[in-house]
Amino acid sequence: MNVSAHMEAVYAEVCRRNPGEAEFHQAVGEVLHTLVPALQAHPEYAEACIAERVCEPERQVIFRVPWVDDEGRVRVNRGFRVEFSSALGPYKGGLRFHPSVNLGIVKFLGFEQIFKNALTGQAIGGGKGGADFDPKGRSQGEVMRFCQSFMTELHRHLGEHTDVPAGDIGVGGREIGYLFGQYKRITNRFEAGVLTGKGIGWGGSHVRTEATGYGAVYFADQMLGTRGQGFDGRKVVVSGSGNVAVYAIEKVHALGGTVVACSDSTGYVVDDSGIDLELLKTVKEVRRARLSAYAEARPSARYSERGSVYDVPCDIALPCATQNELGGQEAGTLVKNGVLAVAEGANMPCTPEAVEIFREAGVLFGPGKAANAGGVATSALEMQQNASRARWTFEETEDRLAAVMRDVHARCRATAETYGGTPDDYVLGANITGFLRVAEAMEAQGVV
Ligand code: GLU
Repeated sequence: MNVSAHMEAVYAEVCRRNPGEAEFHQAVGEVLHTLVPALQAHPEYAEACIAERVCEPERQVIFRVPWVDDEGRVRVNRGFRVEFSSALGPYKGGLRFHPSVNLGIVKFLGFEQIFKNALTGQAIGGGKGGADFDPKGRSQGEVMRFCQSFMTELHRHLGEHTDVPAGDIGVGGREIGYLFGQYKRITNRFEAGVLTGKGIGWGGSHVRTEATGYGAVYFADQMLGTRGQGFDGRKVVVSGSGNVAVYAIEKVHALGGTVVACSDSTGYVVDDSGIDLELLKTVKEVRRARLSAYAEARPSARYSERGSVYDVPCDIALPCATQNELGGQEAGTLVKNGVLAVAEGANMPCTPEAVEIFREAGVLFGPGKAANAGGVATSALEMQQNASRARWTFEETEDRLAAVMRDVHARCRATAETYGGTPDDYVLGANITGFLRVAEAMEAQGVV
């Protein structure tokens, strides 16, 4: 069988059957074309149509989310949960509340989640969900009523052994609290393991909040370590200013680097003396304000709405905002400015063109499935603590996260080499490692 042509055909069929879902097509295309050497080595997986099956979600739920705003007006949003793969464990993945959410976005995220979760080596399947709800400018009461309405439908699809959501863009500790409260009320069960990202006092895990950002920095540090380098004394650009970005900044500073810029959806700040994390947290998490407020409060910082955060010269870039934020043009600027490493804290922030530019320039590139796996890995640690009614310290949990990230990094390199790439080909390594784990389970479990 010509595996390459077969993968092209599978990709064409996915595009045909899922019209208009551009991000889903992109995520599928990126994975399928890297699987060729894996399927050549395992013709039994091609025979069993593993690739075809893994591109089709096991279940997709789309539902109405009606709620009443503070003025007494009825609002209607659309909720989603795509239960993509349960080959390795209960469906696991976050919920995103953002006006851009549609089925194609949720499917791209759910598809990526399958391989990311597999790559962590933990017993978690892949899923994702969310709603086209815009939390910006909404009061606490409105957010709570929205979450309650969302969970009123979603609860029937969840369970600690069935489907375990967590946060993503627009869904943090506050939203997880409201969602958990409603689930508990409807089911009359304190089922701690049904959601992750819970508060520390009621079933949450230490380090879960920090995990995605910390993990991305650990991963980048591992990549740099293969070239005898590290964060110490390095200039770093972090895009975004949400949960992932904030804790990436914290860890970069702990390792001796300086984050000189970060961004939000309207612009970016440059602060040569290093981003002041306490101020950033106050602006974003307490005041829920725009990043321009950071620059107003800090004389060393300037705020810009022109150009891009990637125009700021740096040694290491950590895209932690959202999908397709870093295209060919931004990648070209980063390379021109001498960037050494790029690690994706967000899901699919770099376009395929950008990834190709980094590859050609020999820039170390950590794809999101590997580099941002720390978040979901710590969610699995939260599930483990919930199941055993145990509670680990911050240090113990962080040690486990660091071990998972080291392991993910090592596996990517080893797999890339086994399947004909250079050890630096983390894209090949991550995709094939994740795929093989899922494929082995699917083959063993029969045609389901
Ligand atoms: N939304 C995060 C991700 O993209 C975390 C998912 C989880 O913890 O379940 O991996």
